[in-house]
Amino acid sequence: MTGLPHTPRSVLVTGGAGFIGANFVEHLLDKDQNIRVTTLDALTYAGSIDNLRNVMSNLRHRFTNGDITDADLVKRVFAEDEIDTVVHFAAESHVDRSITGPAAFVHTNVVGTFTLLEAARSAWPARKDVRFHHVSTDEVFGSLSESDPPFSEVTPYSPNSPYSASKAGSDHLVRAYHHTYGLPITITNCSNNYGPYQHAEKFIPTVIRSALAGKPIPIYGAGLNVRDWLYVTDHCTAIDAVIRRGRVGETYLIGGRSERRNIDIAREICGILDEKSPPKKGLYSDLLTSVTDRLGHDFRY
Ligand code: NAD
Repeated sequence: MTGLPHTPRSVLVTGGAGFIGANFVEHLLDKDQNIRVTTLDALTYAGSIDNLRNVMSNLRHRFTNGDITDADLVKRVFAEDEIDTVVHFAAESHVDRSITGPAAFVHTNVVGTFTLLEAARSAWPARKDVRFHHVSTDEVFGSLSESDPPFSEVTPYSPNSPYSASKAGSDHLVRAYHHTYGLPITITNCSNNYGPYQHAEKFIPTVIRSALAGKPIPIYGAGLNVRDWLYVTDHCTAIDAVIRRGRVGETYLIGGRSERRNIDIAREICGILDEKSPPKKGLYSDLLTSVTDRLGHDFRY
């Protein structure tokens, strides 16, 4: 990365009450004592004010409860807090919900991103000392076979779920605002994150919660789907580096180079729990239970 250095001073973090956003807000406030952070979050089922408990009394942090599709609100936040950097996490992000209810995904992920881009364009005419960073996913590239090489920055887009398709749409809009209007943007596409503040219905929290409750641990199909895993604070460190040192207009892929089959992750967690909190009888892995596979489930990212 050899872009011109950018020094964020007043950062708008959208979706900062969600899993990765909350970790990122903590990271920014800890790392840079000269930074102010505004968190804008609609507190949907996916977000929780409790995720921000470590920063709510920080005088350099302000929380605004609101929707990124609310153009007047977004415009007001840009003006009032003199925003010079946007880090855009807010999204509908749960793939299974995108299969049962895709409309919210198109609204938040596409229309919401468009609303933020328009606000940035109008607040920052011709400014170069600003950044719009868009946080995206490796799922926009579709599914790999067992022998394919990993995704790279030039892999063609091939999204398969309403979630990944709406994220792909938002990536394209962000890129187009750079190309058309010269908006100083960067984009990152990251693989699966795990760590504190992750929502209870995601894979790793579900395995832990079900095991400790002595309930069946649901595994899609035979659990052979492969994901690359990254600890959430490593993702935050990478985003911070891209904001400060990334080249404007560029896309960066972030991954852990740590591919695992779902069944292997689940078995490993069960093994750790067997030691830390032994079950009353048998082994936690006895609870592993195959359930009907997700529609159009991507094999490997
Ligand atoms: P999350 O679902 O935990 O959090 C999303 C946050 O956005 C929530 O706090 C929610 O309340 C908020 N939000 C939703 N709709 C909103 C709206 N219309 N207006 C304002 N706020 C709204 O998501 P996450 O796992 O933290 O992911 C954050 C971003 O990172 C997403 O854009 C996602 O696509 C991307 N990403 C996630 C992963 C992962 O493994 N979790 C991997 C790569 C990329």
